[in-house]
Amino acid sequence: MAIKYIPEPFRIKMVEPIKMLTREEREQRIKAAKYNVFNLAGQDVYIDLLTDSGTNAMSDQMWAGIMRGDEAYAGSSSYYKLLEAGKDIFGYGFIQPVHQGRAAEKVLFGTMLQQGKVAISNMFFDTTRAHVELCGARAVDCVVEEAKDPVKRAPFKGNMDVEKMEKLILEYGAENVGLIVVTITNNSAGGQPVSVQNIRDVSAVCRKFNIPLNIDAARYAENAYFVKQREAEFKDASIKEIIRAMFDCADMFTMSAKKDTVVNMGGLIGVKNADSPLILPIKARCISYEGFTTYGGLAGRDLEALAIGLYEGLEEDYLKYRIGQMEYLAARLDDAGIAYQAPVGGHGVFIDAKAMFPQIPYYEFPGQVLAVELYKEAGIRSCDIGSYMLGNDPDTREQLQADFEFTRLAIPRRVYTQSHFDIMAEALIAIKARAHEIKRGYKIVWEPPILRHFQAELAAIEE
Ligand SMILES: *Cc1c(COP(=O)(O)O)cnc(C)c1O
Repeated sequence: MAIKYIPEPFRIKMVEPIKMLTREEREQRIKAAKYNVFNLAGQDVYIDLLTDSGTNAMSDQMWAGIMRGDEAYAGSSSYYKLLEAGKDIFGYGFIQPVHQGRAAEKVLFGTMLQQGKVAISNMFFDTTRAHVELCGARAVDCVVEEAKDPVKRAPFKGNMDVEKMEKLILEYGAENVGLIVVTITNNSAGGQPVSVQNIRDVSAVCRKFNIPLNIDAARYAENAYFVKQREAEFKDASIKEIIRAMFDCADMFTMSAKKDTVVNMGGLIGVKNADSPLILPIKARCISYEGFTTYGGLAGRDLEALAIGLYEGLEEDYLKYRIGQMEYLAARLDDAGIAYQAPVGGHGVFIDAKAMFPQIPYYEFPGQVLAVELYKEAGIRSCDIGSYMLGNDPDTREQLQADFEFTRLAIPRRVYTQSHFDIMAEALIAIKARAHEIKRGYKIVWEPPILRHFQAELAAIEE
């Protein structure tokens, strides 16, 4: 039997109807949304690829867990179940639930970063960078060069540039570097994986200079799956063994459970050493910002679903199907000559909009042009990861030019089927065929001072 894609390792027990508006309606809706996809109503979207965060489909087991959730304020059984799962999977002595990833960052980073400190990462996710900066510290990215070349295929384009990292430590002075963060997978570089060897090398430098190492663990399971495929040492290892190999290198982790842990809301902090002096301040900050330590801003039912999701996210059949979906879409794009961050990453396909619209300059936002066209073409919601998202220079207020002009199709877990993937491919192929007819992009007619892409209003530039 020959099939061109990895079939879903589940069947569907509950459905949520979706509807494609007519082309005329879609054109009217996106115009009314001021060409900002964040202003579209979810109901007006046919395939929603805005993010893979919290948009995942829980399993029958997870929903059953929702019913079993123990809502005791202190010491609920769901909390103990989550602790056990966390300790078992990561091998860490201390696990703290929180309401989402940025809460983990807020609680943990405040215990170790202050004014004058520097934190170095392969690439900071935007909220992670924000929490480093909110502590008064500076966030510095240090990813390998090949991450910046969308057509260059390399197995671990998410890696830290370890040599450069060591140079940065010497430059800033080791005593001023408060934290090293390895983000797995490297979200901002397109969901690109990090090798275990790279994490070991980072860890060795951290030990040498006595700097703590944190894993930003949102997509730890997808990263482990890529390691199994691409790093010879681990070809026969289980996903759980690979996770242990990765986490053994670090001192702590922060995690958004809205990604690989397949829940709609949740997060975790982990500290390897159960006697770490960090634990007392983490607990104190958690109680102030999130809630008592045994619920950390979550309902008991959420803790229960999280404990189950931690295990479901590791299942190899599931990971093979998930990465297979990305690879299927990428193969169709290869056939059509559509460029994207290659090889494809773990949680989405990042289309090279600059290659599709070479006639549109960065200040007319090619990534946004493609996002608007995808909505008009097939009711698909994606988003710009390019100059539109990057924004203006804080001093001169001039538009910055991003390294890439990507349009991101982020794929929710277990939500869309094979035929939806064909629609994504067909829509992109149709847009590419008429891409040369689109002569101009968009201008911003109103923008807020920070994180403008969520709220800005745009207008189509007339020819
Ligand atoms: C999503 C994400 C976060 C932040 O998590 P939230 O749950 O959205 O607060 C941090 N780091 C990475 C790499 C992420 O993908």
